[in-house]
Parts: sequence; C-alpha cells; structure tokens
Amino acid sequence: MTTISENLQGVRTRIACAARSAKRDPSDVRLLAVSKTHPAARIAEAHAAGQEAFGENYVQDALAKMDALPPLEWHLIGPLQSNKTRVAAERFDWVQTVASERVAARLSAQRPRHRPPLNVLIQVNVSRESTKSGVAPEEVPSLGAAIVRLPRLRLRGLMAIPEPGAQSAEQFAQMRELYERLRAEFGLDTLSMGMSDDLEAAIAQGSTMVRIGTAIFGKRQREESAA
Ligand SMILES: *Cc1c(COP(=O)(O)O)cnc(C)c1O
Repeated sequence: MTTISENLQGVRTRIACAARSAKRDPSDVRLLAVSKTHPAARIAEAHAAGQEAFGENYVQDALAKMDALPPLEWHLIGPLQSNKTRVAAERFDWVQTVASERVAARLSAQRPRHRPPLNVLIQVNVSRESTKSGVAPEEVPSLGAAIVRLPRLRLRGLMAIPEPGAQSAEQFAQMRELYERLRAEFGLDTLSMGMSDDLEAAIAQGSTMVRIGTAIFGKRQREESAA
C-alpha cells in the first residue's frame, strides 16, 4: 500500500512534469489537498509530509477537523448556502465557490476583524450544466466588480469544475481566456482548475491551483452529509 506521503510526492512530480511540458515554472502551480470524507488523522499525515493547504466541501465536516488539527490553510470548495456564511467567514482562509453578490456581501460583513480579508474565488459554471453551481461566464465581470468593492474580501481569481471528457480541454481554455481578460482589472492571481484525473490538461491551460483528492488520499468510501 502506498502512503499519503508517497502519493503526495507522486502528485508533486506530475505537477512539475506538466508545468515543464507547458514551459511554465512548477512553483507557479499550487497544490490544494482535497480532504473531504477523510478523517483528521489522514490530514495530519499529509501535513507531516509538507502539505499546508486543504480543501473541504462541507462546512460542518470541516469544523470538526479544524478543531482537531493545528492551524492549517483551509479552502471551502463545496457550494455555500447563505445560512452557512458566518461559519465559513470565521473559519476558512479561502472560499472558492462564491457565486452570488448576496453570499459575497454576507461573507464580507461576517469576516472577523482580527482576521485578514477572506480570499475568494468566483465559481464559474463553464460547462453550463444546469446541475452545477457557479455563475455563467458572462456574469463574472459584474460579480467581480461587486466583490472588489467589499472591504473584507480579497478577490483572488476564478474556480471551475469542467465536465470530464472530451469537452474539458476546451473548457479549461475558455477559463484561461476569461481569467486573462479580467486579471489586470481585478488584480487576480489564482485560476483554480484541475483534479486527480485531469491536472495535466488544466496545467497546460494555465491553472495556478489544482485541487487533488483521490490521488493523495485514495478512493473516498462515502460522501459526507451535505452539511
Ligand atoms: C472532490 C473535489 C475535488 C477532488 O477530486 P479528485 O478527483 O478526488 O481529485 C476537487 N474539486 C472539487 C470542487 C471537489 O468537490
């Protein structure tokens, strides 16, 4: 059985190879370890192997793990309901799934004064699937303009979950185009796309943050409650 530390090393190698093939600097691609459904002990193992940033999908599940671990960098990558914004604003370092002005305004109002502004990404529904969260690409400029006016948020960039399969390369390319178009205007530095199965394609199209679960922690046994 491979250990989390070996898996992490394998993922770092894949990222470095993909970056080099794309003539990019491997250090320009951050690794977010997606720990949803995995217990705190496995996260501690990844941390011991040098991993600092972790992504969780459900606020409630994440809180229990945060309480059990030393301070780490936490990213919320699951859909955020407006009744969960307070906890998200208090406990997370990043929220990658902002998709409405209403949620953004609440996060800004609820971000504690003693913490730095909350880093946020706009989730883009690049595949335009009705079941996926996120805003349509054409709505991103106006949502971005609203977010940069909020004092307690720092807009860092865009996040997307393209449809797996043939379409994904084209959707990664669309995301890159949108990101490049808005980067200077909004001061963006983060394009979050790419998962265990498609990180190479995402890095080829300019991803600066890949979100990797399975390739680090193994298969998920169950999905956690949507809390
Ligand atoms: C679960 C999840 C991931 C990680 O997916 P893997 O295929 O396990 O690497 C990445 N991003 C989001 C938004 C997820 O929900």
